[in-house]
Amino acid sequence: MEKFYDILIIGGGVGGMSAAVYAKRRGKSVAIIEKFALGGQLNMINDIENFPSHKLADGISLSKEFADQVGNFEVDLIYDEIQAVDFSDDVKILNGKKQVYKSKSVIIATGVKSKEIGVNENDFLGRGVSFCAVCDANFYKGKDVCVASENGKGLRAAKILSEICNSVTIIDKADLSAFEKVNKDEKIKVISKAEIKQIKGQLKLEKVDVSVSGEHLQLTTDALFVELGKIPATDIFKGVLKLDEQGYIVTNERMQTSEKEVFAIGDVRNGVLKQIVTACSDGAIAGQFACQK
Ligand SMILES: Cc1cc2nc3c(=O)[nH]c(=O)nc-3n(C[C@H](O)[C@H](O)[C@H](O)COP(=O)(O)OP(=O)(O)OC[C@H]3O[C@@H](n4cnc5c(N)ncnc54)[C@H](O)[C@@H]3O)c2cc1C
Repeated sequence: MEKFYDILIIGGGVGGMSAAVYAKRRGKSVAIIEKFALGGQLNMINDIENFPSHKLADGISLSKEFADQVGNFEVDLIYDEIQAVDFSDDVKILNGKKQVYKSKSVIIATGVKSKEIGVNENDFLGRGVSFCAVCDANFYKGKDVCVASENGKGLRAAKILSEICNSVTIIDKADLSAFEKVNKDEKIKVISKAEIKQIKGQLKLEKVDVSVSGEHLQLTTDALFVELGKIPATDIFKGVLKLDEQGYIVTNERMQTSEKEVFAIGDVRNGVLKQIVTACSDGAIAGQFACQK
């Protein structure tokens, strides 16, 4: 039977989990709907030095501590992806891939997602294409890899990869000749003013087709790391909620959005600092004010 919740939280990162703890302690029925894994971006971080209660933490362990606390308060956990929302009525409706969910209030904690190249990279996910160098570098020890970059956004990932891989080729739309002049890492090569056109392979990624100043180039590679930066995960809220020019959800200091009883927290909102502690703080505020109905 369909369950009607007081509060539904979309996204189980640190923001969503903090909101759940605050709301559940006020005696409300609360569920987190998460499409992938609790912890969100935390699962991609090796070392965290600025979470005040931990001298040094790794993201996966810290995420587990958050999840344990959510478990202690018996928050319902639903694994589903919300694909459309209707906030026009008092009853808020969330359409998931698997089911429809209803509640009095909604807290949006969908965070940010990686910007895509826009070719066929998703066909090779887990088969040579990765969106996280920190997470997947180790799978390519001693291999030759490429980094899809934009205005130098892939330089940090290239440095991480060069410590493990045999060679790293940065493919960037911009002119990175200034970086090339100061680069002392012989493993890192740069192809500037280049655009990835297609990704090819049989069972796994084998080749990347690139256009460089109008000329076609085919690179043989073991992996392609897509490092084009992050964008807010707000596609399903376009035309529903007020977003800023970069697509982040606009909120007031109580985390209220442009719709009644709909809150947004953490990296997905137009906050000035996007960190673990600020996502937790947002979650606490929304968890509190969502309980007022
Ligand atoms: C490499 C890296 C290093 C970082 N280092 C630090 C650091 O040292 N210190 C620090 O404080 N911060 C750091 N950060 C930033 C920090 O991780 C984020 O600010 C914080 O985790 C944001 O939490 P969030 O809950 O807002 O969003 P997220 O962690 O992005 O969680 C969003 C969740 O929502 C889910 N979701 C999205 N859309 C849907 C949908 N439609 N349906 C269901 N579920 C959905 C996602 O799967 C995800 O689990 C780092 C981030 C990265 C990537």
